[in-house]
Amino acid sequence: MKYALVTGGSRGIGRSICLKLSEMGYNVLINYCSNETEANNTLSMINEKGGEGEIIKFDVSKSEEVETAIETWFLKNPDNYIEVLVNNAGIRKDTLLMWMKNEEWQDVMDINLNGFFYITRRLIKDMMIKKFGRIINVVSLSGLKGLPGQVNYSAAKAAVIGATKALAQEVARKKVTVNAVAPGFIVTDMTKDLKEDDLKAMIPMGRFGNPEEVADVVAFLASDKASYVTGEVISINGGLYT
Ligand code: NAP
Repeated sequence: MKYALVTGGSRGIGRSICLKLSEMGYNVLINYCSNETEANNTLSMINEKGGEGEIIKFDVSKSEEVETAIETWFLKNPDNYIEVLVNNAGIRKDTLLMWMKNEEWQDVMDINLNGFFYITRRLIKDMMIKKFGRIINVVSLSGLKGLPGQVNYSAAKAAVIGATKALAQEVARKKVTVNAVAPGFIVTDMTKDLKEDDLKAMIPMGRFGNPEEVADVVAFLASDKASYVTGEVISINGGLYT
């Protein structure tokens, strides 16, 4: 059995990625932080389609929690390793920089950027030893273009893009690839407070994207078909950023 871990797999884009990786034959470790019900729903959806998975709870921004959860999994699975890691967990706390509180800056950095660091550092060791691995980071249009009201989020996602490019070069010889996907506006809980009718007028395709459309690109990057793709950022935004 091959294993894949998706952070923030309980809802939205992460859930679609869990389902897609399950269709590819992975046993999927569904991470969540607070929404146990939705994590269980993701697992049920996998099981209904004949796939296998398990739930692994930790807060990506807490280094010790990440370590404990992963060590516990390895103790139960001493002969296995996690060959696909999708760093998807993320939050936004939008406000203009001049009004931004310390915690609005810090929380966004802790989850979007430090979360990537803690879990990737732990799992990459085994990928290097086994000489195969796939790391896919879910970043954002904001990290490429910068969006007003999102200085914290744009900075965190841009930092993950830099880390993606640097890490890709560190591990390429061991057949570990590191890539990022940069969604534009996708219909999830994260965007439900946005005015979709106003915003979609800016999007060349005239609509928000679906989580499945992001998951399909992640699945490609996880597959053997993407074996020579590394250090890349693929936009999924209906033509918004060109
Ligand atoms: P979402 O529907 O709000 O789901 C967020 C997910 O992240 C949930 O599974 C949540 O877990 C998890 N999460 C949040 N904080 C966490 C933490 N500290 N530790 C572990 N898990 C945590 O968001 P989404 O739209 O699917 O976003 C997924 C990713 O895509 C994020 O990185 C986001 O920045 C990025 N993105 C989204 C869009 C968009 O338009 N939606 C655009 C560009 C990029 P719980 O269920 O336990 O809370």
